[in-house]
Amino acid sequence: MKPLFIGGNHVTTSHGVDNINPSDTSDIIDVYAQAGIAETEAAIAAATEAAGPWALSGPQQRHDILLAAGIEILARKAELGELLAREEGKVLPEAIGEVTRAGNIFLFFAGEALRQAGDILASVRPGVGVEVTREPVGVVGIIAPWNFPIAIPAWKIAPALCFGNTVVFKPAELVPGSAWALVEILHRAGLPPGVLNLVMGPGRVVGQAMLDDRRIDAITFTGSQATGERVAAASLPFLRKVQLEMGGKNPLVVLDDADLDVAVHCALDGAFFSTGQRCTASSRFIVTERIHDQFVGRLADQISALRVGHALQEETQIGPVVDESQLAQDMDYIEIARRQGGVLRSGGERVRRETDGYFLQPALITETTGDMRINSEEVFGPVASVMRVRDYDAALEQANSVVFGLSAGICTTSLKYASDFKRMAQAGMVMVNLPTAGVDYHVPFGGRKASSYGPREQGRYAAEFYTTVKTAYTAP
Ligand code: NAD
Repeated sequence: MKPLFIGGNHVTTSHGVDNINPSDTSDIIDVYAQAGIAETEAAIAAATEAAGPWALSGPQQRHDILLAAGIEILARKAELGELLAREEGKVLPEAIGEVTRAGNIFLFFAGEALRQAGDILASVRPGVGVEVTREPVGVVGIIAPWNFPIAIPAWKIAPALCFGNTVVFKPAELVPGSAWALVEILHRAGLPPGVLNLVMGPGRVVGQAMLDDRRIDAITFTGSQATGERVAAASLPFLRKVQLEMGGKNPLVVLDDADLDVAVHCALDGAFFSTGQRCTASSRFIVTERIHDQFVGRLADQISALRVGHALQEETQIGPVVDESQLAQDMDYIEIARRQGGVLRSGGERVRRETDGYFLQPALITETTGDMRINSEEVFGPVASVMRVRDYDAALEQANSVVFGLSAGICTTSLKYASDFKRMAQAGMVMVNLPTAGVDYHVPFGGRKASSYGPREQGRYAAEFYTTVKTAYTAP
């Protein structure tokens, strides 16, 4: 059984949970210890005790640890990628790509550790000195989802440590393997005991115990909107800092003047790769009238040719859905869309392969309208809908009509419409002639409206959440 990490020690528990491969449910990757309230509280205590000394650790120490971890992650990307593909189900090249991203994030924040600058300003009072500096927030709680098992923990843990915080990290129940490997790498890279603690277990036990503990100074959460709202509500009485990254219902607008090859590529990649289980996945194609039939015809053909199967097989393009309940949710939404008048144009059926896995042929639903549930609620699977609209103005209105605002894309050859969309799309990220999913690791990531709350993640903007600003005045 793989243990918890608390205060620099391995901690075993009486209860363990199997990590099951969604491509082959007979493949048990390993058994992972499960924390209860007592272990979670011990982890918070360890992080609290380590917070003072770690806040005073120098940039060199933090740089060296983050650098060593990044180098090891990159050196082991094939092995870690295989583990990730086995536990989450994305295909091997995507999994290796995610591990590479995680490694690069550690290298980026290794550099940032050496670049922690402040400001010196002239006071309005003659002779007085003013210094503006950033200090660690303290103990950071990290609650992560299952769909990016190593990249999301990396983009939260790396800046937390870089800016001198200690961490209690709770991965999602379905993907403890990548989390465990990452924490082990960081300990071997030289992290002092208690600086990073790993507590695996259910959200309603471990996550809730973190929310209820006032020793956690800040919580960064990625997951569903419903859980995000709980995190915010539980944190308010403590006036705790929170950062929430939640769902999406990301539009891809396709205008009559689009390059059809580009549009179909953006749609296919953005909606269905990684089995559509990306918060930035396109799920609504908003298409103007003259290009509509050509776009749908070409896209439907390419969808039905997608090879769905075991994530580790070379020919597979789309891996399984992550588990039984997510598969049931995907199929339910296809049915709801049909009942409300949508037409299932391609895919949408469960497929059988040699191994017992959660395989779903990606689904395209046409003839949908903005008032249907398929166009307002997040499905989080390989399911996308098409809406036919009159012109650009109608497309923009439709794109902005949902509660979410994470990523928004447009395919057009018109500079006028591309520029207008960049300005007017109500989203944290806008893509022109690119898929809505697939972002750089060194620039801000996040959304607006119900998709995100609090400061941005990643790149230099990460400092906003992981530090607190101090303004010091000195008399002449
Ligand atoms: P989820 O909300 O079910 O779980 C997320 C995490 O919260 C898990 O670790 C879970 O154990 C924990 N949790 C659950 N109940 C809790 C509670 N009561 N208290 C504390 N923690 C609790 O989400 P999920 O199913 O793991 O992930 C899918 C969702 O994540 C989708 O909505 C997707 O859009 C979103 N997501 C968003 C982004 C983004 O950056 N915006 C990125 C990836 C995924």
